[in-house]
Amino acid sequence: MNAIHYRITPASLHAHVFEVVLTIEQPDPAGQVLSLPTWIPGSYMIREFARNIVRIRAESGGRPVELVKQDKQTWRAAPCRAALVLTYEVYAWDLSVRCAHLDQLHGFFNGTQVFLRVHGAESLPHFVDIRPPLQNLPFPWRVATTLPEASDLPGAAPRYGFGLYRAADYDELIDHPVEMGTFKLIQFEAGGVLHEMAITGTLAGAQVDWQRLSEDLQRICNWQIQLFGVAPFERFLFLTFAVGEGYGGLEHRASTALICSRYDLPALAAPGMNDAYLGFLGLCSHEYFHAWNIKRIKPAAFTPYDLSQENYTRLLWAFEGITSYYDDLALLKSGVIGVEDYLKLLSKTCTQVWRGNGRFKQSVAESSFDAWIKYYRQDENAPNAIVSYYTKGALVALALDLKLRTASAGRVSLDDVMRELWCRHGQTGQGVAEDGILAAAEAVSGLKLGRFLQDATEGTDDLPLAQLLKPMGVDFDLSAAKAPVSLGIKTSADGQDCKISQVLEGGPAQQAGMAAGDILIALDGIRVTASNLDKLLARYRPGTPAVAHLFRRDELLVMGLDLSAPPLDQVKLTSQKRLSQKTKALRQGWLGD
Ligand code: ZN
Repeated sequence: MNAIHYRITPASLHAHVFEVVLTIEQPDPAGQVLSLPTWIPGSYMIREFARNIVRIRAESGGRPVELVKQDKQTWRAAPCRAALVLTYEVYAWDLSVRCAHLDQLHGFFNGTQVFLRVHGAESLPHFVDIRPPLQNLPFPWRVATTLPEASDLPGAAPRYGFGLYRAADYDELIDHPVEMGTFKLIQFEAGGVLHEMAITGTLAGAQVDWQRLSEDLQRICNWQIQLFGVAPFERFLFLTFAVGEGYGGLEHRASTALICSRYDLPALAAPGMNDAYLGFLGLCSHEYFHAWNIKRIKPAAFTPYDLSQENYTRLLWAFEGITSYYDDLALLKSGVIGVEDYLKLLSKTCTQVWRGNGRFKQSVAESSFDAWIKYYRQDENAPNAIVSYYTKGALVALALDLKLRTASAGRVSLDDVMRELWCRHGQTGQGVAEDGILAAAEAVSGLKLGRFLQDATEGTDDLPLAQLLKPMGVDFDLSAAKAPVSLGIKTSADGQDCKISQVLEGGPAQQAGMAAGDILIALDGIRVTASNLDKLLARYRPGTPAVAHLFRRDELLVMGLDLSAPPLDQVKLTSQKRLSQKTKALRQGWLGD
């Protein structure tokens, strides 16, 4: 049978190199074209993974075959009659969930980093022989991946083992990241399906409460499976890399790759909930929700993905925003947190949106479309120029949920829209058209929602959350930060120095002429350091003139400052004390209390 066969070996742990041998039984007689993706689904930025291929050669029937580079990510092999064999080395030293990493402690890769696409053969079965490291190791390594084992073939990998794996096509091949090393494994069942978490990284001193972690995850997964009515995978794997400082995740069809701090994991010594653990559960919940919303309910623009260039959609607000809304909501609905904690999380999301003037310049639809050049490539001007389709997208989802609940007297909610999207798109594999969210929401509710969604997703006015939350028995209040005055900057420590990292639009610092990169050295003749700025500002009143000294490059600048009161940008959501019967019923449907 014609098939594509890869063998991947952690060839040099110290040089961080995977060696891949790719065999194509029946290469294109006109000259086989091969390429590596330039981006990875879920992370909308051109990353040019081909730059990590450090050496590549081709041969056929024992003779070298000429390889000609066509563009930055594409090669063409000279025509050959026998099987074509490519051998190449991939440098793997990017410790993120998007890339590949290899050292003497573990190996990790996404298929987009290491598996060349054989043009014209994408729909054939793809086999991968995952080999153990060539070096001797003090402890034997295991393999964690949801790539199916080629169980019926000689050399098949045992579960958690090295050996032969199989994917139905190239698209599946690159959607199962692989971890190898000495990870800790926890298991639980949800919706009748085996769920696992493989944790890599030394946890010494972190003393993790594994029992609690698996129980909390189980609740969250169960609730999400119930929401959609089905677990669309045969097993699910959380691949977690625990480090000192880190946070991030990337979704896949039956797994997710996560990076977190080891101190985000629940401690045996601290049984209560804390922000770090809550943040980790929120991350797990978020990536898990994507198994439905983006991995299967997909924009038409990603059906199929074109991994050679940017794929444009105005809908990331729906795929990342709705997912961000449900990631925290699932913590509440599954009983991991209570209503007051949930309202605190929602307040935080609102505050993140209300803090940036970029929200008046860019809609969430524009932010989705331009993710490639703006959201994923943020610079010092980001808060003034862009809006996040994650945070504001989550609030659009909240607004839509509340609108549906109120207008239908509690009969219809966003849950119904998600189930409709699942039936229309998740189960059929048909992509969501750019107006597909609106179509599904109108179909399940019978409401006319065009104007509402148009304003929310294409407009730049603040969402009418105060008005939408009121019938739910929740008050929306805006207040200012506690400090008496604000400079309108964000700072970072540069050794002992206080370095300005962002200058917020319209604030006193921008009016005075301060810029990102400036070192703020004194305020009214008193030295400013990385740690004392808040203490100094606490003594001022709004309207007090002040003099600031700064270095820009090596030049001393002196500026007059007109300090002002902090802006009203902190959102607080609180439950109303007395609730009518109608409010109680609506709120019960939404918050379950
Ligand atoms: Zn996401």
